[in-house]
Amino acid sequence: MNISPVEDLFTVFNETAVLLQEELGCTYLEALAETGENIFQQSILQKELSELTVRRLKKSYEANQLTHHTKEQIRKAFQLAILKGMKEHTQPNHQMTPDSVGMLIGYLVNKFVPADHYRLLDPAVGTGNLLTTVLNQQENKRVEAIGSEVDDLLIKLAYINANLQEHPIQFYNQDSLEPLFIEPVDVVVSDLPVGYYPNDLRAADYEMKADEGHSYAHHLFIEQSMRHVRDGGYLFLMVPNGLFESTEAPKLNEYLKNHAVIQGLLQLPLTMFKNSSTAKSIFIIQKKGKNVVPPKQVLLAELPSLSKAVELEKILMKIDNWISENKK
Ligand code: SAM
Repeated sequence: MNISPVEDLFTVFNETAVLLQEELGCTYLEALAETGENIFQQSILQKELSELTVRRLKKSYEANQLTHHTKEQIRKAFQLAILKGMKEHTQPNHQMTPDSVGMLIGYLVNKFVPADHYRLLDPAVGTGNLLTTVLNQQENKRVEAIGSEVDDLLIKLAYINANLQEHPIQFYNQDSLEPLFIEPVDVVVSDLPVGYYPNDLRAADYEMKADEGHSYAHHLFIEQSMRHVRDGGYLFLMVPNGLFESTEAPKLNEYLKNHAVIQGLLQLPLTMFKNSSTAKSIFIIQKKGKNVVPPKQVLLAELPSLSKAVELEKILMKIDNWISENKK
């Protein structure tokens, strides 16, 4: 049987994570972070292991070295292991951004942002899967990437993911709606957390705060992303389909009218989501600035299932045509 390099590497991540999980009595995802760190440091960092486990770990690490793999193979193998771990502990708002969406956002970034050197932020970086999928598509470009995430374990996985893929990403482990001490960026990509933000005091600092009760985290994330992108910079955000239908939508409309130019809204196929209420779209906006003009027509599309190659090709052609008409 032919085993692909991704499966091969997944087997190393998985076997060694299981060994560490059993011996350390932690969760699979915590053990995955431990084994990822071992692989990166080329050393077994846990001191409390039995000799047998150390031997088994060494054997597994030696059998399959990272140097034989591309960044994408490493990302995919690590992604498979994270998915396995997430099945054990499902947290709806922690879900990793699927490959296909990351590829599409990477494609859009390439089309909208031709610069060969730019700064990129993901303020809800999670496991880093979306950010590194996008980075892996930016060939021959120098991208300074920044990720921020509130969850300790996810950001640990993200920085290990980045290390294994050799991406020098700057990470911040914090609530991204608190002040972010970063220089302005040119592009934001993010799969936004959806729902209420519990910290009303912090929310009070935002134009889109709710008049009563908790504010929508996804609205505040849009505003925070806009604060950190330079004039004329782009945001590619995964947002809920009902973004413009909630009771808070008038505020969002007003905010966008004042600060941004809407470039596009691409609805992802419903089949990608458990149910239609959790379905999402890719929202493309540009921060207002000198020489920023609204497109003749906003790019609107319902994306077909991303496995339907012919239909997808048609939509990508539509996007390409739209870009050549609107982004000269
Ligand atoms: N793109 C990520 C990936 O590929 O793994 C997944 C993003 S997930 C849909 C949303 C992320 O937002 C979660 O990881 C969650 O922990 C994070 N999050 C939620 N509220 C946050 C906050 N206030 N500050 C920073 N991160 C937050």
